[in-house]
Amino acid sequence: MPHPIPLFLPFMSLFITSLNSGSNGNCYYIGNDTEAVLVDAGISCRETEKRMKRLGLDMSKIKAVFISHEHGDHISGVETLANKYRLPVYITAATLANSRLRINTQLVRGFAAYEPVSIGDLSVLAFPKLHDAIDPHSFVISHKGVNVGVFTDIGSPCKHVIENFGKCHIAFLEANYDEYMLENGRYPIHLKRRISGDKGHLSNNQALELFIKHKHPELSLLYLSHLSKDNNSPHLALDLFASFAEDTDIAVASRYKETPVSRVPTGIAATNTDISPAETVQMSLF
Ligand SMILES: [Zn+2]
Ligand SMILES: [Zn+2]
Repeated sequence: MPHPIPLFLPFMSLFITSLNSGSNGNCYYIGNDTEAVLVDAGISCRETEKRMKRLGLDMSKIKAVFISHEHGDHISGVETLANKYRLPVYITAATLANSRLRINTQLVRGFAAYEPVSIGDLSVLAFPKLHDAIDPHSFVISHKGVNVGVFTDIGSPCKHVIENFGKCHIAFLEANYDEYMLENGRYPIHLKRRISGDKGHLSNNQALELFIKHKHPELSLLYLSHLSKDNNSPHLALDLFASFAEDTDIAVASRYKETPVSRVPTGIAATNTDISPAETVQMSLF
């Protein structure tokens, strides 16, 4: 007997937010209706809890934390968060060895580039990038055909970054500094060279070039991320991207507060058609 045709096509959603983005702390939330991962935990556990609550997101949805590299702005909250909530922490052995993290060893999990990790219905793919850390990686999180990437702390876009950015329907992309502001600013010359070097950070122009040349045709939302406080401004970065945005919504992931949650439909409804533009929701979701 044939299956009856369902009256509605089942679909789920992805919920995406930056809890903070910048040299003072990075923490990105990507989750579906039942589970979520954090990419990096660079703000305190207390601040993470506070911001999650303000967004109407439930801490119990978080099932794992993925660590990109050992710099303090990516790991400072992970120890307390992981130990308190018994969260598995996915981190490479080299990154762990180069950090001072003291995470309960039972919670430590490894990962390797291009070996996807399943967290419930989410799939997390790590890939290497160029940055001045021991073993830096970035991540693409996938759910029912929708790919969300976190691309920060990148000196220059290598083939891994280019290829993975090109797969994403939603992305956090570093736009760390305006080249003129950095060059003419008050930073000492060695720091200017480190930031602008191949293992430093992406400038606004580098991010724009990556966006123009390699974005997915259905990239619906781009968060400009990890903006420098001294060498950039949200207005400057947004203005630069505005005339090239076409169908992509451009937002800034703030270094001071959480971004409103974006909800993207996934599943049958989404994979059979184009990705709907991300819907920004500020009310309590659950
Ligand atoms: Zn950073
Ligand atoms: Zn870094």
